[in-house]
Amino acid sequence: MHTSELSDAGLPDVDILTRMVNQLFSALPSSASGELPSAALPGVQAPVGLLPGGFPAGAPDAPISATLAVPESFGSGLPLSEAAPQGFGLPTEAQLQERIAPRAALQQTAPLTAGAALFYFLEPERVAEQAVSSVVQSKFSGFPSPVPNPLAVVPSSHGSDFLKVGAAPAGFGLPSDSELLALLTPSQFGMSAAPQRSGNAPFYFLRQPGVQVPGWPASGLQSGTGAAAFDINLVRRDFPILQERVNGRQLVWLDNAATTQKPNCVIERLKYFYQHENSNIHRAAHELAARATDAYEGAREKVRGFLNAASANEIVFVRGATEAINLVAQSWGRQYLGKDDEIIISWLEHHANIVPWQQLCAEKGAKLKVIPVDDNGQIVLDEYAKLLSPKTRLVSFTQVSNALGTITPAKKIIDMAHDVGAKVLVDGAQAVSHLRADVQYLDCDWYAFSGHKVFGPTGIGVLYGKEALLNETQPWQGGGNMIKDVTFEHTQYHQAPGRFEAGTGNIADAVGLGAAIDYVNCIGIDAINQYEHQLLLYATGLLKTIPGLRLIGTAPDKASVLSFVLEGFKTEEVGAALSRDGIAVRSGHHCAQPILRRFGVESSVRPSLAFYNNCADVDALVSSVRRIKSGRNSAPH
Ligand code: PMP
Repeated sequence: MHTSELSDAGLPDVDILTRMVNQLFSALPSSASGELPSAALPGVQAPVGLLPGGFPAGAPDAPISATLAVPESFGSGLPLSEAAPQGFGLPTEAQLQERIAPRAALQQTAPLTAGAALFYFLEPERVAEQAVSSVVQSKFSGFPSPVPNPLAVVPSSHGSDFLKVGAAPAGFGLPSDSELLALLTPSQFGMSAAPQRSGNAPFYFLRQPGVQVPGWPASGLQSGTGAAAFDINLVRRDFPILQERVNGRQLVWLDNAATTQKPNCVIERLKYFYQHENSNIHRAAHELAARATDAYEGAREKVRGFLNAASANEIVFVRGATEAINLVAQSWGRQYLGKDDEIIISWLEHHANIVPWQQLCAEKGAKLKVIPVDDNGQIVLDEYAKLLSPKTRLVSFTQVSNALGTITPAKKIIDMAHDVGAKVLVDGAQAVSHLRADVQYLDCDWYAFSGHKVFGPTGIGVLYGKEALLNETQPWQGGGNMIKDVTFEHTQYHQAPGRFEAGTGNIADAVGLGAAIDYVNCIGIDAINQYEHQLLLYATGLLKTIPGLRLIGTAPDKASVLSFVLEGFKTEEVGAALSRDGIAVRSGHHCAQPILRRFGVESSVRPSLAFYNNCADVDALVSSVRRIKSGRNSAPH
């Protein structure tokens, strides 16, 4: 620094420091993480995801196209080898075969034959569901995406996590130097240089007056191209815990069905809230109360967009999916259910979607009926049809099974229930991080999920309910916040959602959930869905080659979960041995005892995938399980 840039006291001027910091950041690769100190430096723009109030500061345009993309491979009818979406850093079908076949031959078992049925998005019913869902969603213009798009960040030049055999082929997650350069100067990469719009700045810290922003390669993100890929190596850098070492090894997190890890933007958002916004909401009339209220209600709006609900009044913040289901049982259920009324659930349910209904039935003299599943773990619709009758008041089922991973035909189940006049609750706890949730398309009456399963904090969740239904239902808890007027004789309740949010809610974590939703939107749930589907196929193929391993749950339409038992080993032994190798999976009954018993087991080992997992994670799992099976000790750390 030149001495003329120093103040009289020998200290640099704040403006000069600010400029230097900006120069420094603009020269560095970033992780879409909000690493920039949010309000520490005057004049340095806070990460857009962390602005006071949690509202996006413009410029969501480029990432939105990725979010709303309807991948061409959905319903394309192409052979699998061509239909497999490219550019996710995952091997193609042909490469999968090549990779799996030699191992399979070694094991003298059949190589993976990934039949068309394995691609659920090629299944006609599912295609229709996806297509309609995407169309409905694309009509919604309010998708905020304030966190920097991971696609837009300079990728690491570290080696690919994929296909360690031989040199990593192009397009497998390993960016070349020229690709790195191209992200900074797209015109050199043969991309049509996008106009210099600060709103499209790939680096949030470059969105500052006077800073030249390289063009944004929006051409690769257009709707319908199927190219809404994300770079797995970059995404992983947004999740600091993935760098954690466990038992001397780098953590391999495959317990996503239990809870998901949090990206930096969520962690930073919570910190920002407590540093700059913390206050109780609604009541006080001071600046921080206004900030906290804006942030909280802003998060509600983000959830509304995420679920495609018609109104933010339909979004009730609760503690999690469990509380959401109990809320419906204890409010609507107690109000409307009577003797001999019937509730239908499925065999796949988590205890959270069994016990509250049992309790209600015991209290009201109502009956609980259960839809059976077939040997693959799929709901048997014909049997469901037989259970439905005018006595059916409620159908409550999971969209994705936590123990098996089965994706249920939600739209069909809902429509059939409505045909007999029943209300429907969808347990979306395992679905929201993998599938597009569109409550208007589904037409469910309630939808429940937990924030911690979708990269948000624990202790916050959501109950969606149709507005009229929520307003005609009496609250289940009384107290502050939920009232309009109280006398000793009488209390008037607020309309929804207030009537169901008695007391001080989990304000900060609701705001954190909003940041998690921004992050998911930024990547795009359809891109996530496709990537995970490929990864699930990859993992399924490899696990099947392990002698003595039995997969529990083999439905063609599955998400994330790979439950299995290993001949000769207790599930807890397998879980503990994997943990010694730094691999986190759940072993046990997964709070879904009835469905495991349906398959003749009391417990299973349950690896479960999220979009930040990669083939290396799967490889680590598979080689560990092989080693356990062969009785060998783990390699020294
Ligand atoms: N439903 C399903 C399908 C689940 O997987 C879970 C959590 N494992 C729940 C409900 C309950 O979620 P929470 O414990 O976050 O309330």
